[in-house]
Amino acid sequence: MALIVQKFGGSSVRDAERMQNVARIVTAEHDKGNDVIVVVSAQGDTTDELIEKAREINPDPSQRDMDFLLTTGEQISAALLTMLIKKMGYRVTPLTGWQAGFLTDSNHSRARIRRINTERLENEISKQNIVVVTGFQGINRYDDITTLGRGGSDTSAVAIAAALHADKCQIFTDVDGVYTADPRVVKTAKKLDAITYDEMLELASLGAQVLHNRSVEMAKKYNVRLEVLSSLENKPGTIVKEVVKVEKMLIKGVARDDNIARISLVGVPDEPGFAFKVFSLLASLKINVDIILQSIGRDGSKDITFTVAQDDGKRAVDALNEMQESIKFTKIAWDENVSKVSVVGAGMESNPGVAAKMFEALSEANINIHMISTSEIKISVLIDKEFSKSAMNAIHDAFDI
Ligand code: ASP
Ligand code: MG
Repeated sequence: MALIVQKFGGSSVRDAERMQNVARIVTAEHDKGNDVIVVVSAQGDTTDELIEKAREINPDPSQRDMDFLLTTGEQISAALLTMLIKKMGYRVTPLTGWQAGFLTDSNHSRARIRRINTERLENEISKQNIVVVTGFQGINRYDDITTLGRGGSDTSAVAIAAALHADKCQIFTDVDGVYTADPRVVKTAKKLDAITYDEMLELASLGAQVLHNRSVEMAKKYNVRLEVLSSLENKPGTIVKEVVKVEKMLIKGVARDDNIARISLVGVPDEPGFAFKVFSLLASLKINVDIILQSIGRDGSKDITFTVAQDDGKRAVDALNEMQESIKFTKIAWDENVSKVSVVGAGMESNPGVAAKMFEALSEANINIHMISTSEIKISVLIDKEFSKSAMNAIHDAFDI
């Protein structure tokens, strides 16, 4: 007998009809003699609608109260799914995050799981009950309800799988797996059978919206076998695991991030300590910096260019302007019309020429590269936003994936 954790996203539990599918999948697994713990998200756009409702009443609610509100979305799904499965003749127990033992820190709206008291879950399982748990939530040490951040139900599911040493954690969604590129942008994108945790982490943080980043981090840490698959079609999805046979597939995916702003500081003194001033200022504002480029000093000054998330762009520029006297730049420029396009693949660690191939594809498509950054399994370029789709297609074609 195996223990399977199955997580269903908002689109999979959107309405009664979709829930029938979910109930079929869950009960079929239980019929095989397996223990099943189900984790659900809020139905459809419920979370967004709840946020909107709160705004109408108070534009600046406390995060504690927001968590109290948003967790109700998952409670609705869990209750309805439970009723449906019970009607089919199965024993089912619905549990909220706190009933399921999720203890988190107190960072409301982005809490981290500290531990899971698995007693209740284990007790239900021992009675062969199907358990339906509300995703994305827990309580802190003051017994206040917390949430794990948008998309956090994936992390709830992986956390349960890790805590109970489940045999598998399946993430059901409305796509049938992880693709080599966004199929809406790249028509020839293909579904991957398997991908490593590290590749998935890179793709997730580059804006491939399939899995919550932290769920992948946690799956890697506790070696949870993850599978991303469709709740609408009965076919294998994409397995996420530690090692994947590289075979001929050098590149696993091409991703794009449009939520980027480029900031340039011109005429910074070419002396020790100035880069430190710039980036410690941004760090103190909790602004994440991505690609950094520094020009060669000339006539005692240099330029520093870097990228931040677009939502942080204005705050970064305002803060830097305030510090102009101390940082001594002569000019600051800010550009939002840029995109980051990246290729990801564990295979590039042992294969030279990936960067050359990527740059060749861009040059043939006449696309200019503004900045470049690399990690062991990723190469990113910053280009003009208007070319981001054609760049993805050109690169995807060049690697023949
Ligand atoms: N319902 C929450 C959200 O929309 C959590 C989740 O779906 O994972 O972010
Ligand atoms: Mg999600």
